[in-house]
Amino acid sequence: MIFPDLRDNVNESLNKNPGTNLPQLKTVSLTLEAKSPQEILTWAIENYSPSLTMATAFGAEGCVLIDMLSKLDPSGKSVRLFNLETGYQFPETLALRERIQDKYNLTVEFISSKETVPEMEARLGGPIYNSNPTECCRLRKLVPLTDAVVGYKAWISAIRRDQTASRATADIVEWDNKFGLVKVNPLANWTKRLVWEYIFANDVPYNPLHDQGFPSIGCFPCTRAAGQEGDDRSGRWAGTQKTECGLHTK
Ligand code: SF4
Repeated sequence: MIFPDLRDNVNESLNKNPGTNLPQLKTVSLTLEAKSPQEILTWAIENYSPSLTMATAFGAEGCVLIDMLSKLDPSGKSVRLFNLETGYQFPETLALRERIQDKYNLTVEFISSKETVPEMEARLGGPIYNSNPTECCRLRKLVPLTDAVVGYKAWISAIRRDQTASRATADIVEWDNKFGLVKVNPLANWTKRLVWEYIFANDVPYNPLHDQGFPSIGCFPCTRAAGQEGDDRSGRWAGTQKTECGLHTK
């Protein structure tokens, strides 16, 4: 076990109910700031597994974390991995899921809305990703994730602080009031360069759309190639003010 002193401190201070003790959670997070993502993941596993889950859209950062987790626990049983299958994902993303599962011998569960895309579009008179993307994201992503984390104590996300203004305040460990469990962000203080250095050094599978100018990859109706222009979220909901689907906004 790593950081036995920290674990004792966590368990004592959080009293197994982290949502009620935010100052102590902040203290733990500050301590973890100086640790590597692998150490943070180890801390999360030791404190929350098997009640620990991770959502991934197979972005570069998510693929890095899956590689790290597979090395920390080759059995793949410490963390339940899932992908929000909106019904609007790129074929390249779905193919990457297969490559990841084959390479690491693990399962990334599909979590979907109870209503299929054809059912939703029939009910609403057509797709709403252009007319009301916030509602579309709520139906295809937020509601399914809310259901998916019920019963879990913590979830892992792959966000980095320097991706967007709304992610800039993310702690390494924080209470996620929206979904009602602890959120662990092992890559919060990593940079894009560190992510890609890790990918190339460890031969991590990644989405080939990145090589075609897509900095960030979400659903195909709302994602465009951005080339070398803009920030890490360029191309997402292009032409609108929207930069987040809502999973990571507080
Ligand atoms: S990213 Fe676009 S298609 Fe996907 S859920 Fe959000 S609005 Fe709908």
